Amino acid sequence: MIYATDGTDRIQITNYNIEARCPKCGRFHEIDLIDILDETDTIDLASIKVFCPECSQRYMESEDM
Ligand SMILES: [Zn+2]
Repeated sequence: MIYATDGTDRIQITNYNIEARCPKCGRFHEIDLIDILDETDTIDLASIKVFCPECSQRYMESEDM
């Protein structure tokens, strides 16, 4: 089992309780960390940016223009 801690409390990390904060709109959204780590070559979790589905969709649509 893997846990996250803030120095006081611990919470078990599972495939279903990991969220990222969208760097565009600031909304928290659920992510699949295994997939993210599989698609990136960084080892710094703090540097990973994951856009929410809505901002990702807007970005994809703007790329189509
Ligand atoms: Zn967003």
